[in-house]
Amino acid sequence: MNIVIVGGGTAGWMAALMAAKRHPNHKITVIDSTEIGIIGVGESTTGLITDLLTNHFWDFGCDHNEFIVETGASLKYAIKHQGWTNNIDDYYIGPIDGSYTKELLPDVYFSYGIEKFPDKQFILTSTIGHAIYNNMSNFSKDEKQFVSYTHALHVDAHLVGKYFKKVCLRSENANHIDAKVVDTILDPITGFIKSVKLEDGREIEGDFFLDCSGFKRILMSKLDNKWVSYQKHLPNNSAIPFLKEYEDGEYPDQSTRAWALSSGWMWTIPLLERTGNGYVFCDDFITPEKAYEEIESKVGSNIKPAPLIKFNTGRQESAWVKNCITIGLASAFIEPLEATSIHSTIVQIRNFVFEYLRPTVEETINDGSRQIYNQRTRKMFDDLKDFSVAHYMGGRTDSEYWRYISSGATKTEFVSNLLEMCKFRQPSSHDFPTYYGSAGWPLYSYVLAGIGKLNRDACAAELNLKSNVHGEYRRLTVQSFYDSQDEWTREQKKLMAWPEFIDYFRMLKKQHDSQSQ
Ligand SMILES: Cc1cc2nc3c(=O)[nH]c(=O)nc-3n(C[C@H](O)[C@H](O)[C@H](O)COP(=O)(O)OP(=O)(O)OC[C@H]3O[C@@H](n4cnc5c(N)ncnc54)[C@H](O)[C@@H]3O)c2cc1C
Repeated sequence: MNIVIVGGGTAGWMAALMAAKRHPNHKITVIDSTEIGIIGVGESTTGLITDLLTNHFWDFGCDHNEFIVETGASLKYAIKHQGWTNNIDDYYIGPIDGSYTKELLPDVYFSYGIEKFPDKQFILTSTIGHAIYNNMSNFSKDEKQFVSYTHALHVDAHLVGKYFKKVCLRSENANHIDAKVVDTILDPITGFIKSVKLEDGREIEGDFFLDCSGFKRILMSKLDNKWVSYQKHLPNNSAIPFLKEYEDGEYPDQSTRAWALSSGWMWTIPLLERTGNGYVFCDDFITPEKAYEEIESKVGSNIKPAPLIKFNTGRQESAWVKNCITIGLASAFIEPLEATSIHSTIVQIRNFVFEYLRPTVEETINDGSRQIYNQRTRKMFDDLKDFSVAHYMGGRTDSEYWRYISSGATKTEFVSNLLEMCKFRQPSSHDFPTYYGSAGWPLYSYVLAGIGKLNRDACAAELNLKSNVHGEYRRLTVQSFYDSQDEWTREQKKLMAWPEFIDYFRMLKKQHDSQSQ
């Protein structure tokens, strides 16, 4: 099959790489335009990018450490959510992916149960909590490798696509055309996309097309599809991104910061050599000028903001129409919170490449596959929308924006029911969606606890109830947790301390940059 991908951003090159490696008999052509460029934001990720880079689903030919060095990425263990309740100094640290205690309860129950930690500063039983609280990495000093891949990455949005492009173009069945697509030609009888027309007059034909053209959505806009807006529930529609260099001797944090401000929230994403930041807001409540002033009041002057980005949260009614699938920003955008975009992009590509893309056109394109793929994709985005909406339910009321949200105007049906239920009982795993890429019970529990909707005593009671059944088991869990906090662990496992780890990778990056000049 001839598969044509329009768009060479993160989505386009990840899709090209996975399709080319998984299906060596299909020909993959990526068309993008240097003149148009990429959006260049999107620097926080989830554990799925680590899976991709460590060839967890398939041998894609990626190298995780090479990626860090070439793209200046840093490790992400968690998200520090600050100011999401009426107590605006309040914060909680949630992990990149929730996990369970040995009693099969969400990790946050454990934090509550052992009562060692301040109210909102949750910790995990896993390597993640260990690393953050001991200021360590999970990188072995002696073996120069990660002892566990339980992390995500903070990445340079301009370099991610470039890395996947380099790896992808090593495959003989992948090629690249740098040109602007000016038209999409449909078959007059079937309505399928026949070809795309380039600015230089060439026509590129294909059997299957992936629209990875970002907010331009140039292929899907020619097909019969609708945009389903999420604005009612997620009203943010603008962002002012900016970069910030580190001071001398400053090291990146191990977590993304999501800092709720007067009319939205600000991200800080610490890379190896700089941070990426941005204020995401709703312009019904604050002008871009006032938003800029608010940024300055929070982080000081001397910032050089990138141009304002406008967006419309939502998704395509159908991700797959005729012989075309939309992926990345062309498919949906929820909002930057919890890094759902690159995450859902990987899920969409993985599902397509491993399950729906078959050796022939006949096996691949049929109504049944299309409908099921669309149902799964819709559900994923709608569920991620609910998850994002839940973050805003901390009852903050100190500005017009927060009063609007706290009036309940943005609640989805699921979030409304969930909050009502939490008044009477703790949620259980079956209350949340569970499938590849979903935000399930443990992750939701962090958010609910962080915004004060999970009852601490009830969590502790539940943990103790289970522990009574498994008394010795619980004692061992607690003991092993405390042990992992001890200094000797550093010696035993020979892990690099966080600053040492950063210095090591900064040194490798310097070497790489000077060799590639
Ligand atoms: C404010 C903001 C913050 C974000 N933060 C995060 C985050 O922290 N984490 C996260 O996971 N995601 C985040 N995202 C989303 C993230 O930016 C995207 O998921 C990611 O960059 C992938 O984008 P893309 O490849 O779909 O589109 P783009 O990067 O825009 O790429 C589109 C491609 O299409 C090409 N193209 C367009 N039109 C044509 C044409 N006519 N002819 C030829 N080529 C064409 C362009 O040249 C480009 O190569 C954020 C998004 C926004 C708006």
